[in-house]
Amino acid sequence: MRALYFDGHGDTSALTVGERRRPVPGPGEVLVAVRAAALNHLDLFVLRGMPGIPIGLPHIGGADGAGTVAATGEGVAGWREGDEVVLNPGLWCGTCEFCSRGEESLCVRFGIVGEHADGTFAEYVKVPASALGRKPGHLAWPEAAAFGLTFLTAWRMLMTRARLMAGESVLIHGIGGGVALAALAIAKRVGATVFVTSGSDDKLSRARELGADRTINYTAGDVVREVRAETAKRGVDVVVETVGQATWMTSLRCAARGGRIVTCGATTGPSPSEELRLVFWNQLSILGSTMGSRADWQAMVRAVEEWQLRPVVDTVLPLERGREGYERMAGGGQFGKIVVDVSGDAPVGKRGA
Ligand SMILES: [Zn+2]
Repeated sequence: MRALYFDGHGDTSALTVGERRRPVPGPGEVLVAVRAAALNHLDLFVLRGMPGIPIGLPHIGGADGAGTVAATGEGVAGWREGDEVVLNPGLWCGTCEFCSRGEESLCVRFGIVGEHADGTFAEYVKVPASALGRKPGHLAWPEAAAFGLTFLTAWRMLMTRARLMAGESVLIHGIGGGVALAALAIAKRVGATVFVTSGSDDKLSRARELGADRTINYTAGDVVREVRAETAKRGVDVVVETVGQATWMTSLRCAARGGRIVTCGATTGPSPSEELRLVFWNQLSILGSTMGSRADWQAMVRAVEEWQLRPVVDTVLPLERGREGYERMAGGGQFGKIVVDVSGDAPVGKRGA
């Protein structure tokens, strides 16, 4: 099968498109013929190599994907060849203390497709049958491939961890990233007032088109002052943190008394300065979140279908040009998801460029 893979860690020049052996599904596994796959920051980290997380080489990246069931392994029930599916990128053991109580993303052996196993940047990928979800009917293949990881992550952050309610206010840093855009879509549908930030006026105007209520350019103004001004000094109920070091103090200062800050990542660095007085005096809750449980996945896929949510697709590239997708991700200029069209039949191009 054709695949985008790398033989050694490094920059994007380590990526090659070539032939790899088609995987064979074992018991409980399904072979999916990939129609489209999508990039995440994780793919860059895996390509560069992460200390303490050895992966087998050569390696195929890609956590997100959508396609059709091509074969089922022994003991797989409920899925047939030809079923149109989306993939939960989470991998869990199913037997540990946390899996046993339905907290699969706390699994002691938790892994991610495309990191701990070969991923979706290939004509076929092998996944546990429990990872499948029905492809929402209103989404084209590139969209279906583009929502799994980010909408799952944003769903758990807002719904399961922060328990966002209608009428509350949310601050989302760095609109343009996949999780940030998924959080915007979900928070608006829940009925929250949403503040977003970016250093780009273009990204902010696109966010307004997607329903953002207040937009703040952090290069032109002070985020804390603007959030406080817009909320009569109160602050917001929930802050969605994916940025880390660069925004952490802003998050603490923007949260209302009793507010919740929910974090799933630290793309600008893991060790921000901290102001504990703000945490205890304002009685803030700092909530960590990673991917989502099986129940989160099922609820999220159902919500995407019922609420007709759509991920924002930045660019669609054929598999042969997948390296350009990694480069665009590394450059950070994207607004939405970078999709690799594996089947070769989606219109290729860049939105608005
Ligand atoms: Zn487990």
